[in-house]
Amino acid sequence: MKPVSKSQPHARRIVIVLGDQLNHDSAAFDGFDVASDVVLMVEARAESTHVWSHKARTALFLSAMRHFAGELRRKGIRVEYRQLEVQCDASLTAGWLALIAQFQPESLVCVEPGDLRVWQMLNETAATAKLPLDIRADRHFMCSREAFATWAGDSKSLRMEFFYRQMRREHNVLMEGDKPIGGQWNFDGDNRKSFGKSGPGFLPQPPKFETDEMTREVLALVSREFADHPGTLANFNWPVTRDQALVALTSFIDERLDAFGPHQDAMWTGMTFGWHSLLSTSLNLKLLDPREVIAAAETAWREHGLDLAGVEGFIRQILGWREFMRGVYFLDMPSLKTDNHYAHKNALPKWYWTGETKMNCLRETVQQTLDHGYSHHIQRLMITGMFGITAEIEPQQLCDWYLAVYVDAVEWVELPNTAGMALFANGGRFTSKPYVASGAYVKRMSNYCNGCTYKPDVKSGLNACPMTTLYWNFLDKHEKTFASNPRTSLMVKNLQRMTDAERAAVRVDGKRMLANLNVL
Ligand code: FAD
Ligand code: SF4
Repeated sequence: MKPVSKSQPHARRIVIVLGDQLNHDSAAFDGFDVASDVVLMVEARAESTHVWSHKARTALFLSAMRHFAGELRRKGIRVEYRQLEVQCDASLTAGWLALIAQFQPESLVCVEPGDLRVWQMLNETAATAKLPLDIRADRHFMCSREAFATWAGDSKSLRMEFFYRQMRREHNVLMEGDKPIGGQWNFDGDNRKSFGKSGPGFLPQPPKFETDEMTREVLALVSREFADHPGTLANFNWPVTRDQALVALTSFIDERLDAFGPHQDAMWTGMTFGWHSLLSTSLNLKLLDPREVIAAAETAWREHGLDLAGVEGFIRQILGWREFMRGVYFLDMPSLKTDNHYAHKNALPKWYWTGETKMNCLRETVQQTLDHGYSHHIQRLMITGMFGITAEIEPQQLCDWYLAVYVDAVEWVELPNTAGMALFANGGRFTSKPYVASGAYVKRMSNYCNGCTYKPDVKSGLNACPMTTLYWNFLDKHEKTFASNPRTSLMVKNLQRMTDAERAAVRVDGKRMLANLNVL
């Protein structure tokens, strides 16, 4: 392959590669002609400021993009790359249009973006430049948008479990003929253990990745340009190349997958990663293909006799939840972004950005998020998410927070998880009940309550745990609908065991807490 001469002013096609499309096998490169086509990659300041992005999230995207551009160039592909420090205009559109004006292409190519906002920007760019835009299916995903829409049909309520079973059959994952291996589709019951009193014990550390010169430059750039943004870069250790992502995958399969299952929901003070895979960033940037991750887990189970429950649980997250969430995003946008089933209006407490709250569970989870841009699924769902729903926080404010602070956040996966799963903002389109529980759940699944200012079992009064008070207050407000749902009617029975005086006290304290979220 002979690279195009640098002086060539014209390109037949401009292939736009977005920051989360770092996939050498991408459909964007189908039919790519090195003699006449150009890849365009733009670092846009607005992508870090449209939500107040964690420094590590910005650094991860920029470093991975720069490494990918280098790899393309080494393959002889011409890449026009606009670095953030060079580009004065803030938006992707401005960056694209400047390069389009320079190269006068005949058409634009891009793979489906994972954010409808960006899709809209692509359409606007093509319209402004009066060029045809060829948007190609993202074959990274195992279920296309069209196949998901066909599966969903016109059903009002969608259940991941049925989608997952179809995906297992279709892709022949953990199957024996047409039956699931082990005789069950789902081993969730085995996967919800706490650490007990003794804690997690020995935890294998994830691999350390070298901070090469390119990453060092990006870290310096982000520290300088986004100094006031949340989070720190001090712990930055995310894979930024496919080679590093493969190391992360191997390390998880060899050292953590076997113990991942039983304790995947457990939390512990000071424990950031546990046995989790830390593969979401590599998957979402498309450095890894979900098929290879699933195959690696299934092979480890077959060849090394790993625990089936844990391996099935891990595979379900990727083949089931991840694909399902993407399908839901494209099916339910744009309404998913504005849904507010409970008409919650409270502002996001300021301590979501600082961790400065007396509630130990929230302090731990938020602080860890600021330190690493990471917390695991149950921390996101049952700590920051659960507080959000019972504290009646406006979904859009909390969704923006999740999109900003997690290194793996891209809207197609963040929004359905936050608005749909954690906040029930879409009224239960794919969850049969809101994820709400009292401080007793936190006490059972973690040691956060030890030494907390509040007492998890106390519903009202000075020591009352806000998680507990706000849970009962929420049930009290929605008693009728919770009573009519077989999955939540037991909660209401427990509520009804409270005396009138206890219920009145919960209402008073619930109201007080809701009015004072910033000082809890
Ligand atoms: P593991 O626990 O090791 O799981 C393995 C893989 O399964 C993950 O890497 C991920 O790719 C996939 N996965 C697991 N659960 C989900 C899920 N619910 N939806 C989609 N994929 C899943 N995940 C993101 O990738 N980006 C987000 O922005 C994001 N926001 C979330 C917001 C909320 C409120 C909640 C409840 C969950 C969110 N998740 C998100 C899902 C999940 O929490 C993360 O994928 C996971 O914590 C990433 O860590 P890990 O790679 O160690 O995952
Ligand atoms: Fe969280 Fe309540 Fe436990 Fe404190 S007592 S850690 S606020 S659940």
